[in-house]
Amino acid sequence: MGEALPPANPAVIPIADLRARTHVPRVSATPRPATGVLTDALGRPLRDLRISVTDRCNFRCSYCMPKEVFDRDYAFLPQASLLSFEEITRVARVFAGHGVKKLRLTGGEPLLRRHLEVLVGMLADLRGADGEPLDLTLTTNGSLLKKKARALADAGLKRVTVSLDALDDAIFQAMNDVGFPVGDVLAGIEAALDAGLGPVKVNMVVKRGTNDGEIVPMARWFREHYGGAVVLRFIEYMDVGETNGWRMDHVLPSREVIERIANVWPLEPIGHSAPGETAERWRYLDGGGEVGVISSVTQAFCRDCNRARLSTEGQLYLCLFATHGHDLRHLLRDTDASDAQIGGALADIWAQRRDRYSELRAAGQAYAPGGRKVEMHYIGG
Ligand code: SF4
Repeated sequence: MGEALPPANPAVIPIADLRARTHVPRVSATPRPATGVLTDALGRPLRDLRISVTDRCNFRCSYCMPKEVFDRDYAFLPQASLLSFEEITRVARVFAGHGVKKLRLTGGEPLLRRHLEVLVGMLADLRGADGEPLDLTLTTNGSLLKKKARALADAGLKRVTVSLDALDDAIFQAMNDVGFPVGDVLAGIEAALDAGLGPVKVNMVVKRGTNDGEIVPMARWFREHYGGAVVLRFIEYMDVGETNGWRMDHVLPSREVIERIANVWPLEPIGHSAPGETAERWRYLDGGGEVGVISSVTQAFCRDCNRARLSTEGQLYLCLFATHGHDLRHLLRDTDASDAQIGGALADIWAQRRDRYSELRAAGQAYAPGGRKVEMHYIGG
């Protein structure tokens, strides 16, 4: 804390205010060596850490970084405020000792961070509390994947998830709002498969009236071209952040997505792959692979939520819809805290976690004591 924030720009929504609202974790007086598992106030373990490596993106999707807000005057974070690869790796090592098994690199668009494969190599060397390598994965918009897939795989990345909201170029380009063509994302998916980063997950955010006509074409394309090598997942349009103008009537419930696909190719449910996994899986009865649905709005899954998010500048968020972060960078840079002391602070933070935003939304309960939600480009989706 204490670092000067970027100057206010009246043209943009003041995310800088949000950046300032952090808790500085007290360095634990009782250092905690690796515990192997931490549970929060609702009994949920910490298993999954999502690490944002940049707040920048080369797309301007309206549900995440709308152009009117994230324009050329927008003050992105200065390089010096980002966690270094060494700092990220240190935090990830502490988390792994306390039970994290999966790391997901996100952004912004993570492939915009220079030399990301170096970080991947450092994280690939970490081990979990059980001595096993961590599940190391990355979410990308695919625009730079063709160029980077091989280096990422060679460095130790296991899998990738690619965001793609339409096959139709006009719809896709309108959604990414920078005119980026579908063909280049598809080439990135091919490159990822060639590099051994499969099965590739493809995430499509479905916004009613915008791209819901693409559900069946997307299902057809990935079934016919890749079978089980690509798993297409449909995500309900969410009210992340404060800038995307979300309305409930933009949400197409997952149940309708499944109905539309099953009308063409019958499906059967096969459950979730693991506790805490967000996607509900469905298999084509004709053996054409599977699809998934992520029903964050209509069927909240907070009760199994085992995820924490580390922002680009080292703020720890306990929920995608959090209004406050916890300033781990302060511990890393401004104190001489040992790993065990950082682990103690982490244990204290996680022990108090009660977040269950989506369940409260579904129950019609008023949101958010405390103000503005964090923006998705800042902590990843
Ligand atoms: S709303 Fe928050 S607590 Fe619920 S599943 Fe999403 S991130 Fe987890």
